[in-house]
Amino acid sequence: KKGLDKAVIYDELEPKSSNFTDRLMLLGDLELALDRGELDWHWQPKIDLRDGHILGFEVLARWQHRKFGNVPPDVFIAAVEPSPLLPRFTLETFNRVFSQLSRLPAAAAEARVAVNISARILEYPDFVEQLLAVLRQHGVQPGQLTLELTETALIANPVQARRVIDALAAEGLELSIDDFGAGFTSFGYLRDFAIKEIKIDKSYIITLGQNQFDLSLVTSLVVFCRSLDIRLVAEGVETADCWQRLLELGCHCGQGYGISRPMPFDDLPTWLEQWRQRH
Ligand code: C2E
Ligand code: CA
Ligand code: CA
Ligand code: CA
Repeated sequence: KKGLDKAVIYDELEPKSSNFTDRLMLLGDLELALDRGELDWHWQPKIDLRDGHILGFEVLARWQHRKFGNVPPDVFIAAVEPSPLLPRFTLETFNRVFSQLSRLPAAAAEARVAVNISARILEYPDFVEQLLAVLRQHGVQPGQLTLELTETALIANPVQARRVIDALAAEGLELSIDDFGAGFTSFGYLRDFAIKEIKIDKSYIITLGQNQFDLSLVTSLVVFCRSLDIRLVAEGVETADCWQRLLELGCHCGQGYGISRPMPFDDLPTWLEQWRQRH
């Protein structure tokens, strides 16, 4: 498609190595995968840890490469983000997820859906317009959508980010800060932006109880978020012990393998039924 003989170059390629040529190859393949509709999004529940009530789902991209098998999203997102493919990938994400959303089982019809977006998409001037158009196309209420993004976007480009985020908030979308505490955490932007949710990075949650730092961080964030009416979500809830600790600390929302792994959309009805019986 791009005038490169991929078959020849692939033979010399180490799967998952991350040099420049590999990234180009990966992008070429991703473009093909987009053409063919080979990407998929798996759904992982976010729940109220107190009663198991389902608050919503985060959708996570999955790509089964024809030759390499499963390519982790971290890997291909890193390649897509600085590339001209980003708007197309982002639109495909919304299109696919919204069309699944409209087929959500009745038991979860009111759940919110959270989509990850790359920081760089905020730099595209027509992002808001396009997103709103896709929402309308699928008949999805903006209030049902949460966008998860990392702090980088807001810190690197605050003026532009502000414009986009204010526009989205005005439409009723929720903004969530992902991987909180993992990067260059700065508190200033929390004052300036309309943030509805903070997700504590899973690196702090997985080790919760093994060191005082993690406990103190969660405890402080609980107080901070409560007083600002920000929803605090723990990601990486892997064990019942962790779940219990979060409750004791007053963190009421969680997501993680201990609740459910991200699952194919078609598995949702069965999972929901089993979850309902247990909670
Ligand atoms: P993220 O947004 O921080 O997503 C959470 C990651 O943690 C996911 O990895 C999820 O499968 C994993 N996870 C969930 N629960 C647990 C747990 O209890 N323990 C552990 N150890 N891990 C858990 P995944 O699916 O491999 O995604 C990796 C990253 O790729 C995401 O991190 C997100 O930054 C990015 N990503 C995934 N899908 C998309 C997408 O559609 N668009 C964009 N822009 N980025 C995406
Ligand atoms: Ca996320
Ligand atoms: Ca995260
Ligand atoms: Ca992450």
